Parts: sequence; structure tokens; C-alpha cells
Amino acid sequence: MLARAMIAAAGLSMASLALAQATPKDTEAWTPEPGRVMPGAAHGAPSDAIVLFGGKDLAEWVSSGAPGKPAPWPVADGAFTVRGGSGDIQTRRSFTDYQLHIEWRVPAALTGSGQARGNSGVFLASTGNGSGYEIQILDCVDNKTYVNGQAASIYKQHFPLVNACAAAGEWQTYDIVWTAPRFAADGTLVSPAYVTALHNGVLVQNHVALQGESVHVGKPAYRKHGPLPIRLQDHGDAVSFRNVWVRPLDKAPAP
Ligand code: MG
Repeated sequence: MLARAMIAAAGLSMASLALAQATPKDTEAWTPEPGRVMPGAAHGAPSDAIVLFGGKDLAEWVSSGAPGKPAPWPVADGAFTVRGGSGDIQTRRSFTDYQLHIEWRVPAALTGSGQARGNSGVFLASTGNGSGYEIQILDCVDNKTYVNGQAASIYKQHFPLVNACAAAGEWQTYDIVWTAPRFAADGTLVSPAYVTALHNGVLVQNHVALQGESVHVGKPAYRKHGPLPIRLQDHGDAVSFRNVWVRPLDKAPAP
């Protein structure tokens, strides 16, 4: 009490005394330590990634129309290519939050235009065969279409911040951070899905909140779901893919 009285007499509050006694160590966090991850070579998978396609086979993928059946898309020269008319393919595994790297290439020789020019897409969570949350794949060099349907758009919801497309025939990269939506037990939306995406290393979606699943006609809406596969779209164009890896974020240390 004597000390308090002396402090009060000196015109110092307890708060300012606490501040005076603060040290840099007070605000240093030492745990939990982030896990050690060895980065990959250029576009290579980091050491803790699940490689979804490493150049050889589609063992991590299945047909979306007939889950359990092998993915029917051909693999050649370290890449796989949409077999038009055979349907979408999806990962065997299901995911909640993750970081995804995927490389894609639209054919060099294209004759269509708009949405019929190198169309495919990555459904970040497949809620069914043909439904989910799509980030668009499309030729977008001198190819006019609606901007919320161009490459790197969240289909019919968010147009990309910039057009970072490379020419048809060249390999392009998507690096995507997906935060899955959360639902209450009764199906009420607790928090929406979020997407951050880089196209060829350029930020194109900056933590955008989704309004629901991508739909071609009408308004997006949410339907309750848990962990889901990632799906690639067969839109009839011979789009190729390579170097696909994912890092589930569920086990990341709390901030
Ligand atoms: Mg598409």
C-alpha cells in the first residue's frame, strides 16, 4: 500500500507503471512452432503436400459421374487432358481448407470464342456432379466474354482483379487458398467460403467471400456440406493439367 501511495503521490497511474515495466519479451510468442516444410523446386510440391498429379497417373482421381471408377482422361508427357464428353473428374480424397497448386494449358489451336474457348474449371469443393464452387479456366487473351466468367473468375460471382493470362498453348498456374464455408447443425450458414488466388503468380482474388455455389442461371446459394473432393470440369475442350498438389490447412497451428 505504501508503494501505491507513493506512486499516486508521484502522479503515476498503475497502467502507466505497467507500461513502464513492459519489456519486448511480453509480446513475443514462442509456441506453437510452425512445422518445418521444405519448399519444392520451381512449381514443385512442398514436402508436406499431397501430390494429386505428379506426371505419371491419375491414381488420386476418379470419375465424377461414377465415383470409384478410374478417371477416364488420358495421361501423356507428364500431363493429363480433358477427354471431351467423358465427364468431370474429382479427387479420391475430400478436403476442408487447403492450399492448391495446379497448372493448366488451353490448346494452342482454338477455334471457338467466349465461353467455348479453352473452357474447363476447378471446383474447389464439389457438392455433386456438376455443382460446387468454380474458379474458371478459359482462354483469356483476346477472347471477349462476361468478366465474371473469364479465366480466374469465381464463376458468376467475382471477376479477377486483373487479367494475368498467358497465351493459349502455354502452361499457366493457379495457386489458390480455399476456406470452406461453415454450417450450423440445422444447415444455417455460419461463415461463407473464402478464396484467395494467384494466376501466374499475380493476385487475382483477394480473400473474396462467396455467395454460395456457382450456378450458370440464377443466384448462388449455400447448401450444408462437410469435406468434399476437388473436381475438374469437362466442358468439351482439350484443356491439359500438370503439377497438381494440395496442402490441407486443417492442422495448421492456431494463430
Ligand atoms: Mg468452366
